[in-house]
Amino acid sequence: MYRDFLDIIEQKSKELDDLSDQIWDHPETAFSETESVKILIDFLCKEGFEVTSPAYGVETAFTAKYGNGKPVIGILGEYDALAELSQKSDCLWKEKVEGLSNGHGCGHNLLGVGGIAAALAVKKYLESGAPGTIIYYGCPGEEGGSGKAFMAREGAFLDLDLALSWHPAEVNEVIQDTSLANIQVLYKFSGVSAHAAGNPQNGRSALDAVELMNVGCNFLREHIIDQARIHYAIVNSGGFSPNVVQSYGEVLYLIRAPKVKQVQELLERVNKIAQGMALATETKVEYEIIKSCSNLIPNHVLEASLLRSFQKVPMPVYTKEERELARKYTLTASRTERAVLETHISRMNQQENSQFLQQRKLDDFYDFVIPYEKKLTPPLMGGSTDVGDVSWQCPTAQIETSTWAPNSGGHSWQIVSQGKGSMAHKAMRYAGKVLAETIIYLLTSPDVIKQAKEEYKERMQGEVYMPIPKEIKPRPIEELGRSK
Ligand SMILES: [Zn+2]
Repeated sequence: MYRDFLDIIEQKSKELDDLSDQIWDHPETAFSETESVKILIDFLCKEGFEVTSPAYGVETAFTAKYGNGKPVIGILGEYDALAELSQKSDCLWKEKVEGLSNGHGCGHNLLGVGGIAAALAVKKYLESGAPGTIIYYGCPGEEGGSGKAFMAREGAFLDLDLALSWHPAEVNEVIQDTSLANIQVLYKFSGVSAHAAGNPQNGRSALDAVELMNVGCNFLREHIIDQARIHYAIVNSGGFSPNVVQSYGEVLYLIRAPKVKQVQELLERVNKIAQGMALATETKVEYEIIKSCSNLIPNHVLEASLLRSFQKVPMPVYTKEERELARKYTLTASRTERAVLETHISRMNQQENSQFLQQRKLDDFYDFVIPYEKKLTPPLMGGSTDVGDVSWQCPTAQIETSTWAPNSGGHSWQIVSQGKGSMAHKAMRYAGKVLAETIIYLLTSPDVIKQAKEEYKERMQGEVYMPIPKEIKPRPIEELGRSK
């Protein structure tokens, strides 16, 4: 236990909490995080880190480095918000902040600063002259942008011995799940406009093509593997006039599957539908890859190291008032959401023969670490993460800490509302301490790093990393649907 080094996180608790609150106050979406980056960089420079900004060809990516020589350990931080999730802080009902449309509905205000807390404690350790380098990666655009995949394309994580991260959640746990690889593609249909009543025979509708493509893909869904997912959003419907045949339309597709190769196979099938519907409607179609990300490669050695630190770092102490507030947030979820969660919990309780999980109730605040059982086949999480791309370049692992009331959901107003609360701050600092404890342990345990690398090598046998094609540039999400 490296208590002396970890103490700095409590000593600087006010500054760290303020930093996270400032990011919360400036919710910026993928690749537009200029203010958030400035806030974080100012702090890191002041703390004596060597900052490089921008980094790896991404305007709102940066690195902050301290130390010398090997091992080189990366900490991944995020700071992007979600569109249309504006919500007042510490408010038990849904209410927007006047004049703000975005909100931190995934807790990335905490995620970025929790990583900085860890970097501060590791720096404290390295200041003694111990060998090793810590690099904090400021990773933009996780939501819908896969910022880390763009950074990985430039080899950002290749020289690392390992990388660690965390994510705010409803529980404390070492993440064992693997994630879905994905690709996001914009289909752009062009037709011919005409008066919809006067001379419809001359019109060729791009909107018809978009709608037919979606129908085609809905039929395709019956003939794909169970774990694959196809989602779409019409981002440009061609205008607001039903009396004009729409000559242009765009639909954004997100295709997911457990493996990158499966995503590529599905993409080819979706492309065929797009081409078929263009042929049928006598329109033209072009498509543009917006981004992609890879599935997560787990690393049991690093997971065990994180678990070891969870057992050593004292859990935050939560007050009666905080627990009471958490319970109130839990009750704000709709009955349907709660029913779904209840089924989920009872299923988990049946599957997991653990006394902790047996105790899980809908409105308990989860102030315990979920027991870790090494799983040969890692469970598949429903979504994707660009941490996946980091895990294709070096051994990578993550934790979650209990930041929100149970049943807060994902990307919800409840998460935005709790993002500046005392429980969230405690969870953020707790995550920082667990990560720092793990990193200092690893810096002093070359054998464990060696084992983690051996496991990585074994898992990567026969696998080839497929980076985002060179010509694709990171694009702010609000730009989509405006191209023509
Ligand atoms: Zn997130």
